[in-house]
Amino acid sequence: MTADLVKANELHKVDPVFGQISFDGHEQVVFCNDKDTGLKAIIGIHNTVLGPALGGTRMWNYANEWEALNDVLRLSRGMSFKSSISGLNLGGGKAVIIGDAKSQKTPELMRKFGEYVHSLSGKYITAEDVGMETKDMDTVREVTPYVTGISEEKGGSGNPSPITAYGVFMGLKAATKYRFGSDNLEGKKVLVQGIGHVGEVLVQHLTESGALVTIADINEERLNQVGSKYGAKIFTGADLYSAEVDIYAPCALGATINDDTIHKIQAKVIAGAANNQLANEVVHGAMLKEKGILYAPDFLINAGGVINVYSELANLTRAQVMEKTENIYNTSMEIFKFAEQHNITTHQAAMSMAQKRIDDRKNELRK
Ligand code: NAD
Repeated sequence: MTADLVKANELHKVDPVFGQISFDGHEQVVFCNDKDTGLKAIIGIHNTVLGPALGGTRMWNYANEWEALNDVLRLSRGMSFKSSISGLNLGGGKAVIIGDAKSQKTPELMRKFGEYVHSLSGKYITAEDVGMETKDMDTVREVTPYVTGISEEKGGSGNPSPITAYGVFMGLKAATKYRFGSDNLEGKKVLVQGIGHVGEVLVQHLTESGALVTIADINEERLNQVGSKYGAKIFTGADLYSAEVDIYAPCALGATINDDTIHKIQAKVIAGAANNQLANEVVHGAMLKEKGILYAPDFLINAGGVINVYSELANLTRAQVMEKTENIYNTSMEIFKFAEQHNITTHQAAMSMAQKRIDDRKNELRK
């Protein structure tokens, strides 16, 4: 053991893998290392009770390996719940590649990564995530069939973002109905934070529905483009979180609902695409409930992307994908009611529903 590792272990005062704070009974964690291509990756398989563990590969310049491990454990667990609540026969998995996607991603590295995925014989199926593009999945496809999110020309389902945006729109409408009594968005003030692949399409749905949309992004060029394309107002105030809006749609980063922002939020509904919006699921979920802010659980309403890639495995037509995505509206309503009836947060309600489906299937398999 190197001196650095000893130091890191002492610092964390935990066992390196099973003792990690994000470890949640994961079935398997695979460390992949290839000197020739420079590949350093971790594949996390959280749960395969409902089916093969499907989840995207993220390439990120992590500060250290602990951060990468923590991320893959957290994200793969999230996928188990996302697929379960969406009624998909999929388990939860995720992979991270340590490195800079802009300068270190090569076809050789992606093929080597694909070989590791292949070695798991379909227990883990990969897809795109941050730092990955459809063409990278096409490269992985050269060495393994256990990949989704490949290009339409190669028989895949293509870019998932418009479907994700549609699902978020469904969840946002359901939350609007539950909180305000009607899902008519005409005149509702909505703040969309992050107008990337998903955010832009959400802005389109919202403006077409008559909502008064304000947009925020760190990319000024995009702000001007999207602002003029859809007639959305660009946020110019000093503090985004204090904006006087009815609905806040986080579509950029995670953890924007935290100790610093929560007391400023004026919106009565939070519904957006970003993963892991609550910095602390328990604490901040409860604080939102106390403030009377209806939170549409992120992993439920941003599931359009996984539904889309699932179509490649289950041979779903585009119409079936849209129908399943549209159903996010009904599932959201069920969750809001369940949360109210049991006096729990919407996040807890969604988690318990997702866990129940996994437990029921596990019991069935035992019989
Ligand atoms: P993207 O990278 O295309 O867009 C993100 C946008 O957020 C960019 O325009 C970026 O400039 C902006 N941004 C970054 N930091 C910001 C900040 N501090 N303030 C304001 N804007 C900021 O990503 P995307 O594919 O649109 O995904 C958006 C979110 O939804 C991500 O959190 C992603 O994990 C999640 N998500 C996406 C999908 C999908 O299908 N693409 C599926 C599920 C979840």
